[in-house]
Amino acid sequence: MNIILLGPPGSGKGTMAALIEKKFSIPQISTGDMLRSNIREGTELGKKAKAFVNAGELVPDEVIIEAVKERISKPDCESGYILDGFPRTIAQAEALDKVAKIETVIDLILDDEKSIVRISGRRVCPNCSATYHVSIIGDEKLCSNCGAELIIRKDDEVSTICNRLKIYHEMTTPLEEYYRKKGLLISIDVDGSIEDNFAKIISALGVNA
Ligand code: AMP
Repeated sequence: MNIILLGPPGSGKGTMAALIEKKFSIPQISTGDMLRSNIREGTELGKKAKAFVNAGELVPDEVIIEAVKERISKPDCESGYILDGFPRTIAQAEALDKVAKIETVIDLILDDEKSIVRISGRRVCPNCSATYHVSIIGDEKLCSNCGAELIIRKDDEVSTICNRLKIYHEMTTPLEEYYRKKGLLISIDVDGSIEDNFAKIISALGVNA
């Protein structure tokens, strides 16, 4: 089963993808995580992507398409995968169509105001990538998983969030129509709790919770 998760920054793509990964035992492929770890490790891909990621701009299509093609050709993707953060442009979707058969596209719907509240309260662990929200952890500064000091992702800074949303609407929203025309799009309102949102996805996929 090959699934795409669409949705603006802050819509919970990563959280939902992790839950789907657990339920269906297929790997979550987050292009954002992939790029951030390459940036941390200083790889060629990381060097190409760094300035774009930090500014909340899209990494050039050819760079990200190559990285995703390589990732989905790995043996752990043989029985399927969940793409979280890819494709983000029509060119990426067309390139993906040439190498993969996508069964379902789950489109997470959240308005901009709620996206901004969610992103600006996000804190991440630079060591193990665990993600937290200030509405839950208050002013706790340390990762409960590994003890490292939590940080605000560079591209989660308030100045960058609006740019990311603008780019999302310009470049990624057209994918809704692209996949709707193919009969693959399932739209899910995600302004509820994580549990409720996941239950809606499971029900839309037509499987038992
Ligand atoms: P995310 O964690 O999915 O919000 O991604 C973080 C950043 O990584 C984005 O703001 C982009 O700079 C870059 N990125 C992730 N996925 C893509 C993609 N499919 N195309 C271009 N840039 C991407």
